[in-house]
Amino acid sequence: FWLETEKRLKETISPTDYTVWISRIRYEGAAAGKLMLSVPSQFVYDKVDREFRSQITDIISDLTGEHIKVEFVIKKISAPSPAAPFSGGDDEENETKKPHAEVSRTEKERIIDYEASNLNPLYRFENFIAGENSAFAYSAAMAISKNPGVTYNPCLVYGGVGLGKTHLLQSIGNYILENNPELKVVYVTAEMFTNEFIQSIGDKKTQAFKNKYRKVGVLLIDDIHFLQGKDSTQEELFHTFNDLYDTHKQLVFTCDRPISELKDLTSRLRSRFERGLNVDLLPPNYETRMAILKRKSAEKNMSIPDDVLDFISRNVNTNVRDLEASLTKLIAYSTLLNKEITLDIAKEQLKAFPAHNAASPSLSIETIIRVVSDYFNVSTYDVKGKKKTKSLIQPRQIAMYLARILCEYSTSEIGSEFGGKDHSTVMHAYQRVEGMIKTDEALNQTVQKLIREIRDYKKN
Ligand code: ADP
Ligand code: MG
Repeated sequence: FWLETEKRLKETISPTDYTVWISRIRYEGAAAGKLMLSVPSQFVYDKVDREFRSQITDIISDLTGEHIKVEFVIKKISAPSPAAPFSGGDDEENETKKPHAEVSRTEKERIIDYEASNLNPLYRFENFIAGENSAFAYSAAMAISKNPGVTYNPCLVYGGVGLGKTHLLQSIGNYILENNPELKVVYVTAEMFTNEFIQSIGDKKTQAFKNKYRKVGVLLIDDIHFLQGKDSTQEELFHTFNDLYDTHKQLVFTCDRPISELKDLTSRLRSRFERGLNVDLLPPNYETRMAILKRKSAEKNMSIPDDVLDFISRNVNTNVRDLEASLTKLIAYSTLLNKEITLDIAKEQLKAFPAHNAASPSLSIETIIRVVSDYFNVSTYDVKGKKKTKSLIQPRQIAMYLARILCEYSTSEIGSEFGGKDHSTVMHAYQRVEGMIKTDEALNQTVQKLIREIRDYKKN
């Protein structure tokens, strides 16, 4: 019933208060007449205790019809352990609260800091799931958070859309804001920075703009690819960069591609970005996708069968945002219709999902064979044929595998399209490729690439 309590709180308090404070409360358990809740820090405790305790107590009493005593404990959340064995040295993190910071600042000042920082408190290290695709970036971000301005400065995190750049960047900000509140943290997107700069020119307030950015302790700028071709903003950022860098202020940037691939960037700003540490975020592999889905479904209190999670992990391989979206869709479906999530439901529901490689009846096996043959530089005739040359077996098996996952044909139908092979041959090929792509990342990438090509082929 804590969930119900949260729901009612959500209705009565402002969304900001809810996000900043209530969402950080965790249910710990209940005992005779007592409800145990935990909060992650003294900072949150003070606020919740003073302003929300009575509301919470009222709601709970209302729900249960009894007088329940609410007890809060401070329980620091530890960082999640990465899916791959990469964790390394995050252990001290539980003891990082600096008591002097808690007493030396008023709560009001802290809230003002939060608002001024522009950070979304929900992007945290605690809910960032690191796998081998992100282990390096994650460790670097952690190191920066613990010692801002000292370790990796500047730092640039780059990677494609939906891979967690914003999440990681804001985690750094939230961590520093909470553990090092004397540092002024500012998060902006490059677009916000640009707009603010342009606005300041219009209002003749460029000096105020300069002062604002040159006084920060930690500057986090998201999506710097936006700056391409914006020369005067680049110029301004160049000076901001130098000022902050020279005084050992932490700078962290994100970009959707490596700096070397940015166009229309002044060479002096380019060289600033390239200075320091550049780390990439890669798409998660199968194991990490599985770990992400497990964690996210647990966070949503949903138990989803492993075969369904496996199905999503295998098919939604683009990025974390798409993984999250497919999970949300299934959960919404199951909650609204009050149905258990089964593999069949997942297949059906995720069919229309753009990032999903689900079966598409209009796709012909012929197309698949053509794309695969072109890719491996062999003839379609041979891919359909019976020759057992090594260079033909793999393309043939991959084509069968793709036909099975992309088209809605039975294995016998697929077999007949491949020069009259039987269903067990197709099944064998399917299982073999399926097994291999779980362990062979290069092959997995090849298969994903082929899927994209097949889809594009269809469009053209
Ligand atoms: P980007 O900025 O690279 O486009 P985001 O940081 O916005 O990507 O991530 C997209 C979504 O996926 C967000 O909801 C984010 O919380 C989630 N997400 C991304 N990476 C992870 C991760 N490693 N662990 C947990 N959630 C993640
Ligand atoms: Mg982003």
